[in-house]
Amino acid sequence: MSTRVLIDHRGGGAQVLRHPEKAHRPDNPIQRKPAWIRVKAPTHPIYHQTRALMRENRLVTVCEEAACPNIGECWSQRHATMMIMGDTCTRACGFCNVRTGQPGALDADEPNRVADAVAKLGLKHVVITSVDRDDLPDGGAGHFAAVIGALRQAAPGTTIEVLTPDFLRKPGGAETIAAARPDVFNHNLETVPRLYPTIRPGARYYQSLRLLDRVKQLAPTIFTKSGMMVGLGEQRGEVMQVMDDLRIADVDFLTLGQYLQPTVKHAAVDRFVTPEEFAEYASLARAKGFLMVSATPLTRSSYHADADFAELRAAREARLMPA
Ligand code: SF4
Repeated sequence: MSTRVLIDHRGGGAQVLRHPEKAHRPDNPIQRKPAWIRVKAPTHPIYHQTRALMRENRLVTVCEEAACPNIGECWSQRHATMMIMGDTCTRACGFCNVRTGQPGALDADEPNRVADAVAKLGLKHVVITSVDRDDLPDGGAGHFAAVIGALRQAAPGTTIEVLTPDFLRKPGGAETIAAARPDVFNHNLETVPRLYPTIRPGARYYQSLRLLDRVKQLAPTIFTKSGMMVGLGEQRGEVMQVMDDLRIADVDFLTLGQYLQPTVKHAAVDRFVTPEEFAEYASLARAKGFLMVSATPLTRSSYHADADFAELRAAREARLMPA
């Protein structure tokens, strides 16, 4: 496991380290997963069709790059989450399996290829995410807007969710995204503020919160969404505090899932949170006023995002109905 995901095989048989900044860290042995985390190997024919379309359109997916455990289920329903602006991230988060390094130039044709793939997949709802692009003057906000524009043209019946970076030190990022009017704006806090120095060292907790708050202020009809991983060493009270912070930023939808360690060089799993604890977090979050909550061990930002979006819309309508 560790060798396979630590090394990339590039053109000409060259081998490159996927996470060079982590190469000299001591190994964290990977714990055996509990029974409630097991997933089935992908065998469905539609899984292979989805994969072929991603290759044909030369698209990168977070499903593959993050080694998501749900890929068999999602791709068998054509739900692939495309990751734009390349396959190389300028951050080096302690939890993330996306390769790190110096990314290449933006591909101006990528918005059209994303839109073409979404139209061919016939998706009701699509989630688009990206690597962090601290090297770009706008952090990639303009490219997100171009993808949203291309999607509106090619797949006008598809609702659009974007899961963006934090646009730290990129003034105007929130404004560009809000002006492009996605249906859902998602940005993950990932963990509690105390763990940022080790888990998300390039990010700032309050920048992420401010971004969510700003998009909601600029475009109140856009649903806002954020997520956290648990099992990284956070305390229950800290999770409650993050929920309160998100409600103050008027975030509509909270996702909570179990952190899974991608390689021996990544942060260790502190513990596997039980399904019962997830159910308790979900009911506490609902009591705090989120319109929608998804909290299960295998919840990821984009997991069941289409069905969740329909519920989210219905929840808002129900709340707006006169009593
Ligand atoms: S949960 Fe999201 S990232 Fe994982 S396979 Fe499904 S769509 Fe891809």
